Amino acid sequence: MTARGVILRVAAIAAAFAVLWTFTPPDLPLCAFRWITGRACPLCGLTHAVFALAKGNIGAALHYHALSPLAVLLIAAAFWNPARLTRLWTPCIAIFTAYGLWRIAL
Ligand SMILES: [Zn+2]
Repeated sequence: MTARGVILRVAAIAAAFAVLWTFTPPDLPLCAFRWITGRACPLCGLTHAVFALAKGNIGAALHYHALSPLAVLLIAAAFWNPARLTRLWTPCIAIFTAYGLWRIAL
């Protein structure tokens, strides 16, 4: 990776972090699965959790979605090196699926 590539990736991650730190998402019921079933889907709360993590509120982030730190690492890895990220997709999808099934069962 060239120095320009590193700078661009760091700038993209910093810009994303600034947006997440600055804004708070509205509290809208956007999940069709939750609307229909009344249960949280595997991704419910992830948006609010990522915004909370950007603000340094780890407790709130974990409350919204326990896997939010993993999601943030995946997003950052996607910015940094998408080719290496492909090896992480299968285990991460398995983890999110297991967590989602656990949430649905509760
Ligand atoms: Zn959902």
